[in-house]
Amino acid sequence: APFIPALAPVVGADAQVPVAAGHRVGYANLDYAASAPALASVAAQVAGALGEYASVHRGAGHLSQVTTRRYEAARETVRGFVRGRVDDSVVFTRNTTDAINLAVHITPGDVVVLDIEHHANLLPWCAPKDGRNRARVVTARATIEDTLVAIEAELASEPASLLAVTAASNVTGEVLPISRLASIAHRHGARILVDAAQLVAHRPISIVSHGIDYLAFSGHKAYAPFGAGVLIGRSDWFDAADPYLAGGGATADVDLRGDENSAGTTWHTGAARHEAGSPNVLGAVSIAEACAALAELGPEAIGLHELELGERLDAGLARIDGVRPLQIFTDSTDRVGIAGFTIDGFAPRAVAEYLSSEHGIGVRDGKFCAHPLLKRLGHPEGAVRASFGAGTTSDDVDRLLNALGALSAGTTTARPELDEGYPA
Ligand code: PMP
Repeated sequence: APFIPALAPVVGADAQVPVAAGHRVGYANLDYAASAPALASVAAQVAGALGEYASVHRGAGHLSQVTTRRYEAARETVRGFVRGRVDDSVVFTRNTTDAINLAVHITPGDVVVLDIEHHANLLPWCAPKDGRNRARVVTARATIEDTLVAIEAELASEPASLLAVTAASNVTGEVLPISRLASIAHRHGARILVDAAQLVAHRPISIVSHGIDYLAFSGHKAYAPFGAGVLIGRSDWFDAADPYLAGGGATADVDLRGDENSAGTTWHTGAARHEAGSPNVLGAVSIAEACAALAELGPEAIGLHELELGERLDAGLARIDGVRPLQIFTDSTDRVGIAGFTIDGFAPRAVAEYLSSEHGIGVRDGKFCAHPLLKRLGHPEGAVRASFGAGTTSDDVDRLLNALGALSAGTTTARPELDEGYPA
């Protein structure tokens, strides 16, 4: 098969790592779904921003003004990239987990969720609010079609204010039909929140044309460094809620009046209401640069790159004895660059450690913060996940396939032992 080059340069693409044989080999990073490496263009822009910054929002100095402009411009770049409405609030958070916890804070009422969700879009909703558990968990069915029917039945049975759903599974990569889910939610008077952590860097997302009310994602899965994420969506719930964090920057006026001191505080509306304290400006700038770079690469090119690598990976895995791919739905038609699988006779941790120590290949193993899904798929002990993106070449995929092939065929001297001794 022809060599497939990287779609775009990423930082660390030529990293060398030690292997058991005693030398160093190029690192094959097949763990993009956990955290993608920064695009080289993002790293360059961030270095520039790091070179000239000062306090944001409060200073009159030139660099304060530059920094404030960069921070506010980052909101607009993100809004444009995900085709947000002009009056949506774009709130910077620490990551997707923080964004969804913010969503929990601003939203009223019951929330319908699927059991396939990452814990970040499950556990925050399960915390009691106003004395009751607001999460109503729907078990995903064997097909997407039947799952849509089950969601609709749940929303019809009792009103809910929100449907909170992932756009792509972090375990299998399967993409969910967001527009249809949005129509179902809206038909029953609910809004929809989309966890786009696994989709935003891989497929085009349009808040307007999909009919999304709230969208959450993390920079570190979208070719920006760690530390920043975003929640974007309809401003009325943002503005009606108490501030997520109380403190400086969120207030328009503070007036301590004896016993009723809190009544003297007037909070801002808009994003500032929920962003008290000095914000992660470099994180926001990184996300914006990543969005700009992804827009430049083009969703079609990104999708095609992942499709070609994915077909090569799937075809190779299918030829290896004992490999069992993970799949939630029998009728899914699109998958981002994620392959979840197990290998008969080998604990997931043993496979991941073998790939790393013998071959310099980085994959993820475990339960992927989706324990209910792993249990239901029959893998309570976890699985292996290879995932890739813009910096991945066909060499990375071929190295993985060769290493797994040798493991399965028993032609490697490093034969990981079964289960015992490896934490799941
Ligand atoms: N949702 C999904 C679908 C994810 O894959 C992840 C990260 N694995 C998260 C949410 C949480 O993202 P973060 O750790 O950046 O908060």
